Amino acid sequence: MRPNGRKILVVDDNLEYVDMVRRLLESRDFQVSIATNGKAAVEKVLSDIPELVLLDLKLPDIPGEEVLNRIKEIDKDVAVVVVTGFGGEEVAVDLMRRGALDFLSKPIENEVLFGAVKNALKIRDAQTEGRQYEKYPSLDRFFPFLEVRNPLHAISGALAIIQRRSDSKDDLLSQSIKIINEEVQHLNEFVQECLNFVRPPNSGRFVEVEINEVTSVVINIVSHMYESESKEIKIVKELEPGLPKIYANYEEIKQAFLNIVKNAFEAMPEGGMLTIKACRQPGSPRHIELVFIDTGVGIKQKNLESLFNPFFTTKLRGTGLGLAICRRIIAERYHGKIHIESEENKGTAVKIEIPVGRRLGDNTRSEE
Ligand code: ADP
Ligand code: MG
Repeated sequence: MRPNGRKILVVDDNLEYVDMVRRLLESRDFQVSIATNGKAAVEKVLSDIPELVLLDLKLPDIPGEEVLNRIKEIDKDVAVVVVTGFGGEEVAVDLMRRGALDFLSKPIENEVLFGAVKNALKIRDAQTEGRQYEKYPSLDRFFPFLEVRNPLHAISGALAIIQRRSDSKDDLLSQSIKIINEEVQHLNEFVQECLNFVRPPNSGRFVEVEINEVTSVVINIVSHMYESESKEIKIVKELEPGLPKIYANYEEIKQAFLNIVKNAFEAMPEGGMLTIKACRQPGSPRHIELVFIDTGVGIKQKNLESLFNPFFTTKLRGTGLGLAICRRIIAERYHGKIHIESEENKGTAVKIEIPVGRRLGDNTRSEE
């Protein structure tokens, strides 16, 4: 389970119901606030800045549609899931056109509620991230990627509804839904990777990045991504004690490591071991040397020289952009090096050398 604490506002005039939903969500570590009418809901959106609102359409003061509009005016990034009583579905579908991400009909089963919340937060995260790209004017020419993304999110949302409402005994239908789901997810990932590749160097803040921390975060993310495959991958970390932090953009370093660890997991369909070693580079202690070693399928000799080329992939569902992005980050942004050694059917080692970097005005001589 990922650490939670995400903020949800529950809006409903039925106190008993609100209380029950609150307790449910809190049991999964969500931070919950409540409002029992439209006016209070709008105020709570202003004061508590929730990430998601569960909005009942029948409120005593303001119509639900109006509340939705006001919420979206305050913050268009808030995810809204509409809750209806009996017969409210038609309105709910109309509301999805106005920015609601999903709708649920009462009575709501717990797992359906959690599923909808999880899905809506996922869509919200992708959308807010997409919006960050809009800040980069040079991305105009890559606009098609952003164009593709919104319909994809709409398809995911609509599909979640079809899935919930469809007859689970109809195998062909379930199978078809599953296929659409997988393909949409694949397209989403592809578009995301294309965006990562074309996006100009991230101008975000430089901070001190701790190797131990960023590798742990990455392993968590990737383990989570592949948890449905339930393969056993042992992770071993061998980090030199007292390793200096690197001065870098955290998101970029995370992205680079993420691509490497994802490849390692994908190279071990039957499970295996991933060892992450990090030490000061012998002879040049202001560089850190990092190696990711997997016991996976390895790489054919003839492919070794193509690995970093954009769109080079040997995978059915690959984008071939992971390592190209890595190289861009490590070599171009940080003047480091990345190098891969591999033996077929034995495994692969991805080696990175990266300068520790210095704060501006840090004129102290290195303490080596
Ligand atoms: P993708 O993962 O989408 O194929 P990448 O750029 O991440 O694209 O990787 C390119 C190719 O390099 C992969 O298709 C695979 O053939 C090879 N590769 C990368 N990492 C590994 C690894 N750890 N083990 C085996 N092959 C790898
Ligand atoms: Mg990859």
